[in-house]
Amino acid sequence: LAVLLQVSRTTAINAYRWLEEQGLIITKVGSGTYVADLLTTLPPNPSVPWSQLFTPSPNTQLSSILRELMASAYTEDSISLAAGMPDPALYPLKHFHRLFSQQSSHLCAAELGHIPTEGYMPLRRILAARLLTKGYDITPANTMIVSGSQQGLYLIAKVFLEPGDYVIVESPTYLGAIQVFSAAGARLLSLPAVNNLPLELLEDYLVRYRPKLFYVMPTFKNPNGRVMPLAERRKLLELAAKHRLVIVEDDPYGELYYDRQPPLSLKALDPFGGVITLGTFSKILFPGLRTGWVTAPETVINRFALAKQYIDLHSSNLSQKLLFDFLAAGLLEDHLHTVRTEYTKRRDLVAGALEQYCSPHLTFTLPAGGFYFWCTLSQGLLTRQLLHEAGKRGVSFVPGEAFYADAAGAGELRLCFATHPEERLLAGIRRLSTALQVLVDS
Ligand code: PMP
Repeated sequence: LAVLLQVSRTTAINAYRWLEEQGLIITKVGSGTYVADLLTTLPPNPSVPWSQLFTPSPNTQLSSILRELMASAYTEDSISLAAGMPDPALYPLKHFHRLFSQQSSHLCAAELGHIPTEGYMPLRRILAARLLTKGYDITPANTMIVSGSQQGLYLIAKVFLEPGDYVIVESPTYLGAIQVFSAAGARLLSLPAVNNLPLELLEDYLVRYRPKLFYVMPTFKNPNGRVMPLAERRKLLELAAKHRLVIVEDDPYGELYYDRQPPLSLKALDPFGGVITLGTFSKILFPGLRTGWVTAPETVINRFALAKQYIDLHSSNLSQKLLFDFLAAGLLEDHLHTVRTEYTKRRDLVAGALEQYCSPHLTFTLPAGGFYFWCTLSQGLLTRQLLHEAGKRGVSFVPGEAFYADAAGAGELRLCFATHPEERLLAGIRRLSTALQVLVDS
């Protein structure tokens, strides 16, 4: 074998040994080596070497940091201010119970078969009609249903990105997007987005790197709640058109405003047709529906549909139909009114509690919508250490590092104020303040 393959004798012997260990060959002393009869001979240790079979891991460094941090932040009675979850007590359960039982008694066989990959047409129609009222220039053909907007992000990466392509992301931005784009092998360019968007730097990126996409969350950004002003939206769209840049607009929180309506979405303002927008029912209804949508030009939707076929053929008929019934009954607006009122109270309560218990070592900006407080610790304090102390006292949050594609955010953190009722939120902030005091005193 060594002569045949022109490898060293040791390599050949090792190869024989390995094949024997795997039970693929049998050596009979004085007779020779034979290919094993795989049906009758089991290897001595028949476990599959799983990790050798995996493709190179898409795990980014970020996901392992986060897993490690979050694991340290859990105790049994822990109050999680980490997950970006709506409060389960606010899910419109009564309506969904009724719609669910109506659906189950009227369901016909035809509705349980496959549907087009792009989604349940009545839902696409009602969704497109709703988006038209928000200034979108679209038809149902431009609207595709996905299993959560996270799947939309995945499809965008699949359809547009090859390893080495550049993608611009705001800094900070949504962790799930950083992960999807990094896993696709993209190179991420961070654009600071705390105060004004640095449009000159953006143009510099466009000229120098010719990026494929700019991923942006103009309204109540996760994590820092930033709202892009109208004038900036228009300038961004002009710049994008000039450089033929595709904008991916993620808008899960636009309906959750607490002071005044935010400016129109980029998609609604875009006269050039270069914006792909993602939406979801996860924050305004509940995440278990796994129903979101993508709006894009029809040629792009067709490519998304092709890519989605490889994953799940189409999103669940039952969720889509249930959601359609909810929307068709006109129940969404009332629900939005209820959650906006409740979340406004919680936001104000948490703002007051942070002022009272955590100032001056922790500062924040008041979010005008969405789910999050974005907080900064005073000079020299590290959120990793705070998370450790907070975990011991039964409260958790997401450390700032998770939201940066480059190494930043060590003194920042995100708190979700939506998930818990007022008393529990207050208890969470008090625990956080005790943990913070430990850091300050040490
Ligand atoms: N984008 C952003 C900005 C999010 O915050 C989330 C949820 N955390 C998603 C996308 C994904 O939401 P889903 O897949 O549940 O629709």
